Amino acid sequence: MRKVWQTPGVDGSGSGQERRALVIEDDEDIRSLIEFTLETQGFDVTAVDSGLAGVDAVRTLDPDLITLDLGLPGIDGIETCRRIRETSDAYVVMITARDDEIDRLIGLETGADDFLSKPFSVRELKARVNALFRRPRRGPALTAATTQGEPDHEVLEHGPLRVDVDGRRAFRDGEELALTRTEFDLLTELMRTPARVWTREALLRSVWGTDWATDTHLVEVHVGNLRRKLGESREGPKFVRTVRGVGYRMESL
Ligand code: CA
Repeated sequence: MRKVWQTPGVDGSGSGQERRALVIEDDEDIRSLIEFTLETQGFDVTAVDSGLAGVDAVRTLDPDLITLDLGLPGIDGIETCRRIRETSDAYVVMITARDDEIDRLIGLETGADDFLSKPFSVRELKARVNALFRRPRRGPALTAATTQGEPDHEVLEHGPLRVDVDGRRAFRDGEELALTRTEFDLLTELMRTPARVWTREALLRSVWGTDWATDTHLVEVHVGNLRRKLGESREGPKFVRTVRGVGYRMESL
């Protein structure tokens, strides 16, 4: 079977699957700090100081990770994130000036995968980024260390849904779905264990790799977006069932 990621060199890019990061931040000190931190984590980092420059850079760089400041001159972080999401499925960590803003931001469904508030420590940023890239999957974002030997080509099916885990592609009735990385990771977790009822906390731990359980709202928002992209509607089919007071599981089909 075709393996999308295991073909180094085919396009002339060599075997190094270097991860690219884009830092969008107008404060020079913080920008340098993030840049430096991500470089020590092995990212090839580009930094810009405005939302518009960020949107442009996403198109040319196709980064794997984006850190995005909320308070930017010109278009703010929310609008920047919306525009980025038109072309990119990169992990987006939105950085806010205030802790108490995060809940409101999650509710706005900006498309960010995670949030971090200032002031944050280098250690905190590293931990958050590591968690995103440690998500339980095989993919281009993981380093060779996890894919020693021949990996299986994992394909999950559930009714009309099909997920090619290694290729990171999801389909409904043969049509490819445009999922963000987080939506894809969520769907993969749910489809791997179709009978399991997942609590929001368990999904947060498993998909986000964090015990940051105060923000299970983040899970709800991303599950909501996923459902919409799967084509769920009031009358139509349901794929993800809400188990009242507990969490979610796949609908039995
Ligand atoms: Ca700022």
